[in-house]
Amino acid sequence: MMQEQIFDVTVIGAGPAGLAAALAADHAGAKTLLIEREARLGGILKQCIHDGFGLVRYKEKLSGPEYAERFIEQLPQSGVVTWTLSFVSQIKRDGTDSILIVITREGMKQVRTRSLILATGCRERTSRQIGVHGRHCAGVFTAGTAQYYTNILGKLPTKRCVILGSGDIGLIMARRLTLEGAEVVGVYEAKPTPSGLTRNVSQCLWDFEIPLHTSKTVTRLFGDARLAAVEIASVDACMCPIAGTEEIIPCDALILSVGLIPENELAESIGVPIDAKTKGAVVDEHNETLLRGVFSCGNALHVNDLVDYVSESGEIAGKAAASRSNCARGLVPVECDNSLLYIVPQRICRNAEKQDRLFFFRSARDMDNATLTITKGGNTLYAKKFAHLRPPEMERLPIRLTPEQLVGNEPLRFHLEDSEHA
Ligand SMILES: Cc1cc2nc3c(=O)[nH]c(=O)nc-3n(C[C@H](O)[C@H](O)[C@H](O)COP(=O)(O)OP(=O)(O)OC[C@H]3O[C@@H](n4cnc5c(N)ncnc54)[C@H](O)[C@@H]3O)c2cc1C
Repeated sequence: MMQEQIFDVTVIGAGPAGLAAALAADHAGAKTLLIEREARLGGILKQCIHDGFGLVRYKEKLSGPEYAERFIEQLPQSGVVTWTLSFVSQIKRDGTDSILIVITREGMKQVRTRSLILATGCRERTSRQIGVHGRHCAGVFTAGTAQYYTNILGKLPTKRCVILGSGDIGLIMARRLTLEGAEVVGVYEAKPTPSGLTRNVSQCLWDFEIPLHTSKTVTRLFGDARLAAVEIASVDACMCPIAGTEEIIPCDALILSVGLIPENELAESIGVPIDAKTKGAVVDEHNETLLRGVFSCGNALHVNDLVDYVSESGEIAGKAAASRSNCARGLVPVECDNSLLYIVPQRICRNAEKQDRLFFFRSARDMDNATLTITKGGNTLYAKKFAHLRPPEMERLPIRLTPEQLVGNEPLRFHLEDSEHA
């Protein structure tokens, strides 16, 4: 029989969220285990060799590996036990404890933990998920895979490519591949506006004279063993291709940057409720899910725009996981209408000691001079004006809410109104 190892807090995933969570739990005095399936710590940051990480947290422009190193170098002085090349294959629940089955180089291990933090990151949508027609020959990559080939393996995956989708990783790869000598014919985006951060559109496309074509998509692939060309067409307001607008572009690679999906198979396997809008767990302001003792943070919780917020969410989860109790939380639902893409957290604890709450949200569309209001049972608790809101840019909103404001079972409702729709 497998011997069981016991920890106060166990963190799955050693990207920036998991590293911050494990260190925060350790600082709070918890016996902490950090489990990572890859050989090295740092998660996706290992392959992000461009700068721009840590501007909020360190007021410095760090590369991904440099940013990760700021956390990794703290581990030897901490009490965190780290297992790499270790894959969590199964989780079971025993009351509010979690039992993990972990596959390691030394064989299978069983871990019992009082608090579990899921920091498993996200994965990229593929061509199968967006329904591109034609032969799926070699040469179709997600932007993250192209980044891995270029930055980790040192192999250029294309000489002439088309990028579909204007997400941040696609924009960053447009610049990276250009710097490495490949020709990037253009970035094609089905929506009328780019999906990535404004700073990435400017620094990765405009500075390198790479064209951005909005309201266009790839409709077909051509090629036998290797991609030879793609067909591009304009799309209407419902994103349906418009007949007669097709053009064929010769290229040896199609690079996809069409969205990230939080990785939550383990969470779902133990019945953690998932928010249909974020595709991450429903959590309270401590990042505790609706399953007591199970926490979620980083891109597994919702896709963040900046790594600094990923680390912050890990710290919130780590600190709370170390000191968690099973006392009733008195959860108040937090909802948003369709003027917001989503709101996190989706619950707040009426019984929490701290009255300062941190919310993250994205607007549903570009808005100027927008007013955010938070109401409960018809009463306006909070209002704030924003000069500009764009869906790719996530908003971080600290708010003080008193116990008196949280009395009653009505949800807190978030609503945005701009000059266009007032
Ligand atoms: C391909 C890609 C490229 C990106 N590039 C950029 C960029 O250039 N700039 C930027 O600001 N943001 C980028 N991002 C966003 C980036 O993911 C976040 O900023 C941040 O790295 C997310 O941190 P995380 O810790 O939540 O997830 P990750 O960094 O993804 O870490 C999750 C970790 O969990 C581990 N894991 C998952 N499941 C298990 C399991 N069952 N057992 C053990 N370990 C497990 C994974 O191996 C991984 O190390 C990129 C994202 C992706 C997917």
